[in-house]
Amino acid sequence: MSKESYPPNLCDCSICDIRSTATQVVSGCGAKPAEIMIVGQNPGKEEDKTGVPFVGASGKWLDRILKAICHKREEVYITNTVKCLTPDNRLPEADEIKSCAYWLIKDVKEVNPSLVIPLGACAMQAVLCTPPDARITEHAGKLYHSSVGVFKDKLIFPLMHPATLAYNRSRNYDPYCQHVANLFALLIELGILEASTENWREGFRF
Ligand code: URA
Repeated sequence: MSKESYPPNLCDCSICDIRSTATQVVSGCGAKPAEIMIVGQNPGKEEDKTGVPFVGASGKWLDRILKAICHKREEVYITNTVKCLTPDNRLPEADEIKSCAYWLIKDVKEVNPSLVIPLGACAMQAVLCTPPDARITEHAGKLYHSSVGVFKDKLIFPLMHPATLAYNRSRNYDPYCQHVANLFALLIELGILEASTENWREGFRF
C-alpha cells in the first residue's frame, strides 16, 4: 500500500473493504503524548456506533485495569490495531492489519509512549511482530523490549484481551489479577507510579 493512497485524516480512510460495512472509523482517544499507550484489536459494535474505543463490555474491564494502575482514560492513549468494525465482528485479517499499521505507526509517533500495552493476541502480534500463531497466554503479564520498527526501544507489556474477562470471568480473573499485579509493580519500578501508591486490587474488583 503506497503512502500516497492514505488520506490525511484517519476518519476519511477507506483503504480496506471493511470500511464499507462499518458505520465509522474509530480513532484512538486520550492524551498525546502519553506515557502509556493501550492497543486493542478492533472496534466492536458499541464502538462502531459511538466512534469511541472500548466503550462496550471489554471497555468496562479496561476501565478496571486503568483504575488498578491509578490512571484515568484521559491520561493514557487508547487505540486499536484495526480501526474499523469487521463484518460480523470477525477477527481482522492479515491484510487489514497490514493496511491499518500505517495508522498505528502514526499513533505511536504522535503519542511517543514509553510503555505499550497490547490487549490480546492480534494487538500483541502487531506490536511485538511475533508470528501469527504466537499465543497471548504465553506472553501476557511479562515485559518485553522491542527492537523493531516504530516500537524500537519501547517497553511492551501484553495483557490478555479484556473480552476474556467479560465473557469468561470465572476462568480468567485469577490469572488476569497476577498480570495486573505485575503491571502495577512495573509502573512503580519505572517511576510512573509512586512506591506508596495504594494497592492495585481495590480498582480491579467487579
Ligand atoms: N475490543 C477491542 O479490541 N477494541 C475496542 O475498541 C473494543 C473492543
